[in-house]
Amino acid sequence: MSRIICINSNRVQKSLDTKELLHKKLINAGFKIDYDYNPAAELIISIGGDGCFLQTVHDYNIPNIPLVGINTGHLGFFPDVSPDEIDDFIESYLKGEYITQEIPLLQAQIVTKNNGTKLFAINEVVVKGDKSRTIHLKLNINDKHVQNFSGDGLIISTSTGSTAYNYAVGGSIVDTSLNVMQIAPVAPINTNSYRSFTSSIICSDDSIVRISPECEFENSILVVIDGMEFNFKEISNISLSISDIRIKLLRTSNYEFWSRVSEKFL
Ligand code: NAP
Repeated sequence: MSRIICINSNRVQKSLDTKELLHKKLINAGFKIDYDYNPAAELIISIGGDGCFLQTVHDYNIPNIPLVGINTGHLGFFPDVSPDEIDDFIESYLKGEYITQEIPLLQAQIVTKNNGTKLFAINEVVVKGDKSRTIHLKLNINDKHVQNFSGDGLIISTSTGSTAYNYAVGGSIVDTSLNVMQIAPVAPINTNSYRSFTSSIICSDDSIVRISPECEFENSILVVIDGMEFNFKEISNISLSISDIRIKLLRTSNYEFWSRVSEKFL
C-alpha cells in the first residue's frame, strides 16, 4: 500500500517553489502526494508561516493526522523545517527521528438566543466589539463572577497561542508543557464608571471561563478564532475550556520551547 502525504501551501511564490521541490523529493522517496485532505494520509505538510499552519488545521477540519510545517513565512513558530532542510527532514522522517508535540485546543461554546455552536482554536479566541465598538462583558470563572470588563476585548489563549496575539497585548509567554488558559484584556477601561482588570489572568486546564454581554443577547460582539472572524446574532454567552481534542505536530528532534522563544522573540 502506498504511503500518502497531504501538502497544503499558501500562494506566496517561495511556498509554491518549495511545494514543487518537495513534491519531487517525496515522490522519489516513494510517497504518493495529495493536495486535498485525505484521511488515509500519514502526514500533512503545511508550507508557509504560522498563519498558513493555522489555516491548514482549520481547512482540514482539525485532523487527527500528524502535521509538520515548512517555514516560508516571517516568524514560523509552528513550522520547524526550513526549505533548505527538506532532504534532512525526509531522511529523519523515514528513520522516525522526530518528536511529536501534542497541542490541546481551546473549545468555545457560543450560545445565542436560538442556537449553540462549538468552535476550536489552536492559538486563541478573541471576543471583541464589532465595528471597533467598546464592549461591556461579564467574566465568570467556574461559575464565580470575577469582574466585569469594558474595553476593546478579551483574548483567551492556549499556552501555544501565548506567544501570538496574547504576547502583543502584554500577556505572559507560557511554557507549552503547562496546559493553561490565559485571559488577556485588550485596552481595558479604568475610570470611576468602569473597572476592568489590567493584567492577564491564568486559569487551570479544568476551568470553565464564561463570558457574557452585560446586556442580554448582544448583537455587536465579534468572535475571532485564530484570526478568522465569526459574527453571531444575539449572543447570550461564550463558554471556554481546554478541549480533549489535540493536534499532533512533528518537531525536529532538537526542538526545545525556550530556545525557540529566545530565537524568535528575545
Ligand atoms: P497572521 O498574519 O497570520 O499572523 C500574525 C503574526 O502572528 C505572524 O507574524 C504570525 O507568524 C504570528 N503567529 C501566529 N501564531 C503564532 C504563535 N503561536 N506564536 C507566535 N507567533 C504566531 O494573522 P491573522 O491571520 O490575523 O491571525 C493568525 C494569528 O495571528 C492569530 O491566531 C493571532 O494570534 C495572531 N495575531 C496577532 C496580532 C498581533 O500580534 N497584534 C494581531 C492579530 C492576530 P508568521 O509570520 O510565521 O505567519
